[in-house]
Amino acid sequence: MKRAQVLPASDPESIRLAAEIIRSGGLVAFPTETVYGLGANALDPEAVAKIFEAKQRPSFDPLIVHIATRAALDLLVQKTGTVDRRLMDAFWPGPLTIVLPKRDNVPDIVTAGLSTVAIRMPAHPVAQALIVKAGVPIAAPSANPFGYVSPTCAQHVLDGLGDRVDLILDGGSCPIGVESTIVSVSESSLELLRPGSVTLAELRDIMGTSVRAAAGTTIIAPGQLPRHYATKTPVTILRAPGARPAIQARERAGLLAMSAPGQEYEMFCAIEVLSSSGDLREIARNVFAALRRLDALGLNRLYAEPCDEQGLGLAIMDRLRRCAVSTQ
Ligand code: AMP
Ligand code: MG
Repeated sequence: MKRAQVLPASDPESIRLAAEIIRSGGLVAFPTETVYGLGANALDPEAVAKIFEAKQRPSFDPLIVHIATRAALDLLVQKTGTVDRRLMDAFWPGPLTIVLPKRDNVPDIVTAGLSTVAIRMPAHPVAQALIVKAGVPIAAPSANPFGYVSPTCAQHVLDGLGDRVDLILDGGSCPIGVESTIVSVSESSLELLRPGSVTLAELRDIMGTSVRAAAGTTIIAPGQLPRHYATKTPVTILRAPGARPAIQARERAGLLAMSAPGQEYEMFCAIEVLSSSGDLREIARNVFAALRRLDALGLNRLYAEPCDEQGLGLAIMDRLRRCAVSTQ
């Protein structure tokens, strides 16, 4: 079985090699500011098919296409509206994905047959350099087996897909740690398809009040499956931070704590504190890696404290809920 090469992203030679692999139809995992992506040439249906195969991702779940310049939009989308452009001015490059009407150049496999394509311009210098050097837009979902926790460092990619990707560019840990916000614009209103690191408040600042999103409800979009981000260990979300779960005798439990616990917890075999001060940015940055560490301990159950569903907290709780639903 082949084993992926892991190369330092800081070496221009690694970027050159990665770009060559993308251009010749291979798969490269690369860091973005959100999570690591599993990239292929978005204009090559056979290369994109390898992403679905490697991840075991169902073909009805569309991919996000990553670009480095606005000029690349001409190749991919029929048109952009004034609201779309206002969002791009405000948030690109950055963790906002915008759904736009696609052109015929975009293969159906990328969009799961939809007439729209999801586009993002990542801000991470390695992602930017790779897209520029490859000279093609890069389709990339998170670089993990379908349904599992997203990867936020090169080792996570190696653990999950090490035998299914040609090259992993190691650019250290992802600075944000949760996926991009996905929106679609219709008429002049904005619909939130997935909460992410661009917050509702930030979108409202740009848009006025016309952002449609019911906090905490399941967002219906193709591929936005409720079962996702699943650990092997079942996860239960606690009623409130600091709540003490009724743990069965002999149950070996772990705790995912949002901030430093204010009490002694003798009932947990392991505790991961996401941020000693409860800072949402730090929590977002750490949540997937902490879930993976707890999941590796072979415990019977993980208990996760909830955080306030404001700002980044909406995206964090969205991921934790999907994890909990998927593991019951
Ligand atoms: P990820 O697996 O994190 O890259 O997420 C990709 C997600 O983007 C999919 O699961 C969809 O929910 C969403 N998406 C991609 N393309 C579209 C589209 N054309 N319309 C609506 N949502 C989309
Ligand atoms: Mg994913």
